[in-house]
Amino acid sequence: TEQAQIRNFSIIAHIDHGKSTLADRMLQATGVVAPRDMRAQYLDRMDIERERGITIKSQAVRMPWAAAGADGVTRAYALNMIDTPGHVDFSYEVNRSLAACEGAVLLVDAAQGIQAQTLANLYMAMEGDLTIIPVLNKIDLPSAEPDRHAAEIASLIGCEPEEVLRVSGKTGVGVPELLDRIVAAVPPPSGDPEGAARAMIFDSVYDVYRGVVTYVRVVDGALNQRERIKMVSTGAVHDLLEIGVISPEPVPTRGLRAGEVGYLITGVKDVRQSKVGDTVTSALAPATEPLSGYQDPKPMVFSGLFPVDGSDFPALRDALDKLKLNDAALTYEPETSVALGFGFRCGYLGLLHLEIIRERLEREFNLDIISTAPSVIYEVTMEDRSVHTVTNPSEFPEGKVRDVQEPVVRATILTPSEYIGAIMELCQSRRGNMLGMDYLSETRVEMRYQLPLAEIVFDFFDALKSRTRGYASLDYEPDGTQSADLTKVDILLNGEKVDAFSAIVHKDSAQSYGQKMTRRLKELIPRQQFEVPVQAAVGSRIIARETIRALRKDMLAKCYGGDITRKRKLLEKQKEGKKRMKAVGRVEVPQEAFIAVLGAD
Ligand code: GDP
Ligand code: MG
Repeated sequence: TEQAQIRNFSIIAHIDHGKSTLADRMLQATGVVAPRDMRAQYLDRMDIERERGITIKSQAVRMPWAAAGADGVTRAYALNMIDTPGHVDFSYEVNRSLAACEGAVLLVDAAQGIQAQTLANLYMAMEGDLTIIPVLNKIDLPSAEPDRHAAEIASLIGCEPEEVLRVSGKTGVGVPELLDRIVAAVPPPSGDPEGAARAMIFDSVYDVYRGVVTYVRVVDGALNQRERIKMVSTGAVHDLLEIGVISPEPVPTRGLRAGEVGYLITGVKDVRQSKVGDTVTSALAPATEPLSGYQDPKPMVFSGLFPVDGSDFPALRDALDKLKLNDAALTYEPETSVALGFGFRCGYLGLLHLEIIRERLEREFNLDIISTAPSVIYEVTMEDRSVHTVTNPSEFPEGKVRDVQEPVVRATILTPSEYIGAIMELCQSRRGNMLGMDYLSETRVEMRYQLPLAEIVFDFFDALKSRTRGYASLDYEPDGTQSADLTKVDILLNGEKVDAFSAIVHKDSAQSYGQKMTRRLKELIPRQQFEVPVQAAVGSRIIARETIRALRKDMLAKCYGGDITRKRKLLEKQKEGKKRMKAVGRVEVPQEAFIAVLGAD
């Protein structure tokens, strides 16, 4: 396709505002998917995406569309729709996807109005100078308030309320008009078609049959079939086995030219060799400058993963190796715990990322796993000036601490104005600092806070939702670190430290954390032959204590005497129970107790 007839766009939307459904209608309207092949959420290929209804990996689809240009002449255009993940954990990928586009459709549920997450992505698109096409979706809903929300959007992006398109992904109404608007409003790509080849990687996916499939947007020059390509960041050279476009299945082509979007297959087996954000060039006549600064996405949240059955350790390692092929942001290294045995300390982009990995390990690899409480990265400076990076609370250094740095985030919360008070209270209780507040309309407010990441990774989102009856939305981005008065709380069973239960908490909440954990463990651990103290300690100071009383003699006596079959049954039962016990010192702790303590709050 001629560069002038290409339009690259993505859709920015809050989860559930209808992006996947609208994409389905576009595939149909442009004839890319025949009616009989149509299935809901066509582009969300991974099972887990379809079940959870979220898009994890971005996709790129090419759709033909005939429309009249400014001169009134109808021409054939190629529209490339680049899908972006909608969740805050994946904002790094959103950024890359937007960088591959000249335009963005801002899709807003006409019954809900714009949400904080959408706002963050919208600002990202505006910073990248993308043309914004505002669209209200779900106008078929009886609860839709298109006039009200059109006014809100218009004041936000500085356009007239009449310019906000109205569509329904469900009925398809307004979809052809939206495609026409994309052709008319979004500028064609502006790269240099004669320059040295430069293509930006905006996604990279491991496929069992084909190896790594890399999605690129060619900015300058061209990449041709069967040539050798080079990764600018590493200098690595690969043979190009296949190049093509997705429409909606992969179709090999002879090459991709400036402005075009498509895929590459090189036979590499590891997505780390084909990183999102990197620049691909031709090995023969390479470009020297990469397209834009390349940064690895950094893990923000850490937790230990342990197989429930210790003999599954090699299987867990295998599974993590496989998942890593598809997920450059996942990190892991072996870890040993006194309480839980051999496992891995894993790093994630955020809590959703953690949940997805855990769910995939259980579902796709049939592994039973325990994950320890999530932790952030702390930088601990000791009196002797040595500096320790701590991602595992049990590794918090002993001795005199001079300073602890914890990561902080800048959070944006959008809410109906009646919940301002409740939100201020919540943020204060989480050590938040208010940065500012703006009214988007008479009834909707944007609140900005600086908050410690550790205070929001656990249950902040749930607390926010329950205090605002689900109406508030949240987004956050890393904002450096701050000095904080933090301390490690250890939990001791019969005088022995249980590493999996150590936590780093603010000094003010050490006491309540200690009480909560000791109380819970007392409930969960069965009585032993002897009395077992359960203690919480800061350093050598005990801050909370519970006692598991010893079994009474007469209860033991019940096991003896009686008929022989009953005795054998009892013994067998005991043996089975033993298998699932972990010994902490002399104390036998059922596996379930570890799981329950680390589980819900
Ligand atoms: P996504 O999370 O943004 O991809 O949203 P989906 O496309 O998965 O849609 C979320 C929910 O809204 C689904 O239950 C859809 O059936 C529904 N939905 C999407 N578009 C419309 C629409 O135009 N009208 C109505 N009534 N429902 C819609
Ligand atoms: Mg979706």
